[in-house]
Amino acid sequence: MTAFVCSEPACHQRYPIDSARWRCDCGGLLHIESQLTFDLDAIAKAPINLWRYRSAFPLPDSAVPVSFSEGFTPLTEVDIGTKRQILVKQEQLFPTGSYKDRGASLLLSYAKAIGATEVVEDSSGNAGCSVAAYAAKAGIRCRILVPANTSPAKLTQIRGYGAELELIPGDRAATAAAALEAAQATFYASHSWNPFFFQGTKTFAYETCEQLGWKAPDTVILPAGNGTLLIGAYLGFSELLAAGIIGQLPKLVAVQSIHCNPLHNAFAEYRKNPEKFRELPTIPSQPTLAEGIAIAQPVRGLEIMQAVNESDGQFISVSDSEIKDTLKTLAGQGHWIEPTSAATIAGAAQYCHDNTIANERIVSVFTGHGLKSSEKLSQIF
Ligand SMILES: *Cc1c(COP(=O)(O)O)cnc(C)c1O
Ligand SMILES: [Zn+2]
Repeated sequence: MTAFVCSEPACHQRYPIDSARWRCDCGGLLHIESQLTFDLDAIAKAPINLWRYRSAFPLPDSAVPVSFSEGFTPLTEVDIGTKRQILVKQEQLFPTGSYKDRGASLLLSYAKAIGATEVVEDSSGNAGCSVAAYAAKAGIRCRILVPANTSPAKLTQIRGYGAELELIPGDRAATAAAALEAAQATFYASHSWNPFFFQGTKTFAYETCEQLGWKAPDTVILPAGNGTLLIGAYLGFSELLAAGIIGQLPKLVAVQSIHCNPLHNAFAEYRKNPEKFRELPTIPSQPTLAEGIAIAQPVRGLEIMQAVNESDGQFISVSDSEIKDTLKTLAGQGHWIEPTSAATIAGAAQYCHDNTIANERIVSVFTGHGLKSSEKLSQIF
């Protein structure tokens, strides 16, 4: 039966799936346990968007998708400035301009199905844009909490979708605390806490494998801030492996900024004894061009390290100058992506430089559209 399950080994408490839960009473992170079916013939005949995998979503049968027919983004060969071509999933082409729409489509469909009339989320970036757009589509009221010092340019899109913006004095942690408070009374559409968000981002893995003829790539290079794409991709690949559709888990390579890389920093220690590792050490973090992945205390940090470790993967950290070079290389070929998005491709370039495995099939991602951050890009070009 489909249920929320606490991920704390000492707890494993279960909750009904219609209970609007986003965390366990013990404070633990929730996962979703469910029966999936993959009927590849039926999938092949379904409309070409992420809802073609409906039978793998743990939603009530009565749920109506909140959808713009999004997904099934192109998987395109790109010259990233190394001698090798890699395949890049064009996730900047989503309706709001980033892959966060995958998570928001599932999450708002769930919220609508259980009768939520209002949602709250804390994000000044792309997750806020996605939740606001899908709430607008669903006819659900939306409040987005952001730190008071957030640059106004980023908030225009969120406000434009009709969300109510609340500016919270203090740092990012103060905003998170205010969101937790608000979440006691309102559906918490959190991209890091709510497990339904990852039910959406897992479709990245399904699509990639389907586009490769239901085969897994060898290596997948993804960003690791809160890990909303990485954890989702790991979930999706793991489900396809368990269903016998693919033969192996791809190696997951996680990219951070050298100015804020708590997971890369802790990974060697984690790997010595994953079961015993409990908490990420606090590290100093400096401003970076890749602000979208500069997360000092990721809520699901241990899950990210677990996914990388189990897939026999690794972490890579990139500098702002590598990000700038990558932006220039890509823009020179007609690709227009956000600086945060270029961090992942800079990581892919580093990976290709350090590894030469014959015929290795590498997949990476353009996570967000350049038109979202014209202000920042105008300082580079
Ligand atoms: C959200 C996002 C990321 C990284 O996401 P995490 O979930 O924090 O790992 C990367 N690039 C863009 C453009 C994003 O919006
Ligand atoms: Zn628990």
